[in-house]
Amino acid sequence: MARTAGAEGLRKLLARLATELEVNGNDLVIEREKAELLMEEIKPKPSPLQQFYEQIKDCRKCPLAETRTNFVFGTGDENADIMFIGEAPGADEDRLGEPFVGRAGQLLNRMLNEVGLQREEVYIANVLKCRPPGNRDPRPEEVAQCLPYLLKQIELIRPKVLVCLGRIAAQTLLKTLSPLSRLRGQIHQFRGIPMIVTYHPAALLRNMGNYERSISDLRFALRVYHEAAAGETSESGPHEVGA
Ligand code: URA
Repeated sequence: MARTAGAEGLRKLLARLATELEVNGNDLVIEREKAELLMEEIKPKPSPLQQFYEQIKDCRKCPLAETRTNFVFGTGDENADIMFIGEAPGADEDRLGEPFVGRAGQLLNRMLNEVGLQREEVYIANVLKCRPPGNRDPRPEEVAQCLPYLLKQIELIRPKVLVCLGRIAAQTLLKTLSPLSRLRGQIHQFRGIPMIVTYHPAALLRNMGNYERSISDLRFALRVYHEAAAGETSESGPHEVGA
């Protein structure tokens, strides 16, 4: 969005300069005041998602604010059609301020590449924006405080498909206690957006035996996305989830 605003600004500036050139010929002079107004006009405006980040980045609503190094908002294309949702930042993410940048993140990048996606073209965020000490599971009161941030991100990004990475993200968004094995292999709906559930990359690191199943889940998510993008109603049968 910022890139679009920049291009639009440049187009306006060039149009304005062309007009000035026509009026003043080769002796183009723009008074400082006019130039400053012009600069202000073409300055890219922060997108709604960037504005939201500015509003919440210093959050202190739960005790995780005391122990975090960085508030980990999210990363990727804010106009992405596919949005991935993990659980919470780990040590590397806390240090660097970006989701999925540690070993699990490297595996996620590999998975994305394997199905023809680049990390930069999707959006990646977590249920919690701050690291639970020792990577323990998020506590209900932390989720209660933090979930509205993720919901707002989903609302602003408006992806065509959501992919939950792991049990915690899926159970939180779907308000269920069903195990991951039951949640995989179906198209869930989250506020009108189709949602697919797959393994968390950190779980895959512990058991690479499920890697091909996770790739199959991502291909499933891509099919759902293409169907959604084509405006079709998905009538595909149940997805093969493996043993
Ligand atoms: N695990 C997650 O769920 N999110 C991250 O950002 C990193 C690891």
